Amino acid sequence: NLTSRLADVVKSLRGQARLTEANIQDAMREVRMALLEADVALPVVKVFINDVKQRALGQDVLGSLTPGQAVIGVVHDELKKLMGEQNDALNLAAVPPAIVLMAGLQGAGKTTTTGKLAKLLKETQKKKVLVVSADVYRPAAIEQLKMLASQIGVEWFPSLPSQTPKDIAASALDHAKRHFFDVLIVDTAGRLAIDQEMMDEIKALHAFLNPIETLFVVDAMQGQDAVNTAQAFNAALPLTGVILTKLDGDSRGGAALSVRHVTGKPIKFIGVGEKVTGLEPFHPDRLASRILGMGDVLSLIEEVQKSVDVEEAQKLAKKMKTGKGFDLEDFKTQIQQMKKMGGMTALLDKMPGQLSQLAQGQDTDKAVARIEGIINSMTPAERAKPEILKASRKRRIAAGAGVSVQEVNRLLNQFEQTQKMMKQFSGKGMMKLMRGMKN
Ligand code: GDP
Ligand code: MG
Repeated sequence: NLTSRLADVVKSLRGQARLTEANIQDAMREVRMALLEADVALPVVKVFINDVKQRALGQDVLGSLTPGQAVIGVVHDELKKLMGEQNDALNLAAVPPAIVLMAGLQGAGKTTTTGKLAKLLKETQKKKVLVVSADVYRPAAIEQLKMLASQIGVEWFPSLPSQTPKDIAASALDHAKRHFFDVLIVDTAGRLAIDQEMMDEIKALHAFLNPIETLFVVDAMQGQDAVNTAQAFNAALPLTGVILTKLDGDSRGGAALSVRHVTGKPIKFIGVGEKVTGLEPFHPDRLASRILGMGDVLSLIEEVQKSVDVEEAQKLAKKMKTGKGFDLEDFKTQIQQMKKMGGMTALLDKMPGQLSQLAQGQDTDKAVARIEGIINSMTPAERAKPEILKASRKRRIAAGAGVSVQEVNRLLNQFEQTQKMMKQFSGKGMMKLMRGMKN
């Protein structure tokens, strides 16, 4: 599966010092597969992979943890950049009513999303919202919006299949103005495929309404086809944002990348369920991880890169090299680094599968604090030469730290094991151990 595949890439790149054409190649092949499996459109994949390659090439891996992580980090960064760095909020800064026009193919989720959005604006921003349907081809669609509106308690403006969309819009706008609505959301008709008549109609509606938001609603399950649809709507209308629906399904969300790439417009919301509550602000980083199929692993990597004191780690590594050896003071530093990474519990929680099970039911943060306490109760000489720790010293330390002698012994055991592990590594032992913890 995808997660293990990417994990393999990370593994295969571990221990290499610089990102080169050769070692990026394999990683890129896997990333390409990941993107295609997530249903990102092929032309978008190509451009994206090329960008990432350019950025990754020659990148210094020293500061980051492994070349594998560096590559995945670059991929994640670029994904996020492509999808917008952060959530782009709905713009309602207009002379009321702020008009929101919904556009998209039939079945994309326009009507449902109209209801969801009305509810969101009513509840989170206390807006007075009016909704209207300009879908004159399907009486059922008008009825659908009416039911939604009454369900969520926002006002619905009646329309008839015999009217023209423009007439409907005109009367709804007039009503909204006279009754001091803050927002008017105009639901429109879609077709099963891109169609000239539909485009002309919504263009005319747009010209008449001059909406502050023109939202392209697109079904995430559309996958590869999303590119063509997005292209057509983007060419016909000055879109201000995208709503990606049905992300609660099997979709990996690759359509987001395609749509964003083609339109350059921010994804503002995602639909995550059929119910009226199933609309959420879009968060690029979360979807980036979802596309790569790595759960929270990527945010974990970021966290680690942010918080690990690389300089400190390198100082330790140098110590090892000069043969001074790994003592209890170093052990403490190492544990403190682990704490900086957000605590072992949080860390292990974010790891996939096996590792996260380790974290369950164990308060590792507390354990780390106890270890620190015990080492703090030792003299510098004891920390440097743990072998001098005989029974009487241990009793003194245990008393000082408020723990049992057994616990001191357990710590010394742990230390010895770590020391043994350190010896298996070369001069850069510390860095490698830290890498090991992170993969
Ligand atoms: P429209 O033709 O663009 O107006 O699409 P509709 O709003 O009528 O939605 C088409 C179908 O998709 C309906 O069955 C909706 O319940 C469903 N739908 C819309 N948004 C979502 C979503 O975010 N998640 C899920 N699971 N279903 C959705
Ligand atoms: Mg509809």
